[in-house]
Amino acid sequence: MNTPSNVLVVGAGAAGLAVVESLRRKGYRERITLLGEETHAPYDRPPLSKQVLAGTWHADRTRLRTKDVLDALDAEFVLGVRASALDAATRTVRTESGAELRAEAVVLATGLRARRLPGLSGTAGVHVLRTLDDAARLRGELLEAERLVVVGDGVLGAEIAATARLMGTDVTLTGPQAAPMQAQLGHQVAALLAALHTEHGVRLLPDTLVEALETAGGRVTGVRPVGGGTLPADLVVAAVGSTPATDWLAGSGLVLEDGVVCDSRCRAADGIYAAGDVARFHHEALGRSLRLENRTNATEQAMLVAANILGEDRPHTPVPYFWTDQLGVRIQMHGLPGPAATPHIVEGAVEEGRFVAQYLDGEGGPVAVLGWNMPKQVNQHRRQLIGRYAPAAAPR
Ligand SMILES: Cc1cc2nc3c(=O)[nH]c(=O)nc-3n(C[C@H](O)[C@H](O)[C@H](O)COP(=O)(O)OP(=O)(O)OC[C@H]3O[C@@H](n4cnc5c(N)ncnc54)[C@H](O)[C@@H]3O)c2cc1C
Repeated sequence: MNTPSNVLVVGAGAAGLAVVESLRRKGYRERITLLGEETHAPYDRPPLSKQVLAGTWHADRTRLRTKDVLDALDAEFVLGVRASALDAATRTVRTESGAELRAEAVVLATGLRARRLPGLSGTAGVHVLRTLDDAARLRGELLEAERLVVVGDGVLGAEIAATARLMGTDVTLTGPQAAPMQAQLGHQVAALLAALHTEHGVRLLPDTLVEALETAGGRVTGVRPVGGGTLPADLVVAAVGSTPATDWLAGSGLVLEDGVVCDSRCRAADGIYAAGDVARFHHEALGRSLRLENRTNATEQAMLVAANILGEDRPHTPVPYFWTDQLGVRIQMHGLPGPAATPHIVEGAVEEGRFVAQYLDGEGGPVAVLGWNMPKQVNQHRRQLIGRYAPAAAPR
């Protein structure tokens, strides 16, 4: 494909910004427009549930780049404007303000929207956490709250519970799993995480679905689990997952199936690409489609998309990776362990509070490695996964 005469990126988050930066780094000098519905300049989300919620970082510190650095990109930033429709055939994006933007290459980087508990819009004291504005609202109430119930025991729910507990709040963390983050960590390591939370005073209510919230005068007063009883609460966070922000793409001509469906080059249609949390791409080494919701992938995939826009032909074959910080522990996971994989400790020990666990599949092959407060060592063990996830890549 010839170099496009202009590029439009929709979604001004980590992935969107990385596409722009990467294009410029590669010498692309044509017009670039970055359209984002949030009014903030691109910022980083991982600190929202950690430093920003805790108040150890001011919101400004989450900015991904200073104004000078953004200016030097010589891109047009259109912020506070939502894209409302796309015509994939003509690569035309319509905005809510009525503008039509047409480009030779369009990148979809609209991320996710937090799922909400049904029927509760307008109930005071019920929050989600996806954006900087969500974090400011939640922190404001957390400073006053006595009893927080976090509904949802995935990564985000566990992080929010951990941060709030360190702030001195009475916290209950409830969700359908036997232990927090079991889907990501497997039951053995999730049990260790559960123990860590319990040691710090987080009350865990596992294997539990929530039936309803109780309210009085328009404000939440408690959480009612299926099976009876009430958990009193003056603050509730719903961390019950997210959905790809593709609502505006209905009727665009693209295939949407839990994300924007792309090929292994992250191409959704001729001249249209997707990157970051919203992109469902074909992972050639795994032989299946994948959508990754993590910060490292947002940048790596964006860089690959920029390269492919400029005529390279590279497949996206990452070793999936995420980290989380909770209660003084950094957990890092490289690879996808899957429910059947078993972890074996290969460095450190649980008793030392630091270890590396290698997850083996049924045939004894490594499918993932996890570091528990062992960042340097887990990185070394990651190398053994490259053959499985990125066979064409040289060992790093
Ligand atoms: C609280 C929190 C903590 C996290 N912690 C970690 C962590 O510890 N480790 C880790 O690996 N990952 C973490 N993540 C995940 C990581 O932040 C995401 O994977 C990353 O932000 C994805 O970047 P993105 O650019 O794809 O999407 P986003 O960052 O969501 O950016 C998408 C942007 O597109 C905008 N947009 C959406 N629809 C439209 C539209 N129609 N028109 C215009 N703009 C639109 C959105 O408003 C948003 O600004 C965390 C996420 C959250 C929310």
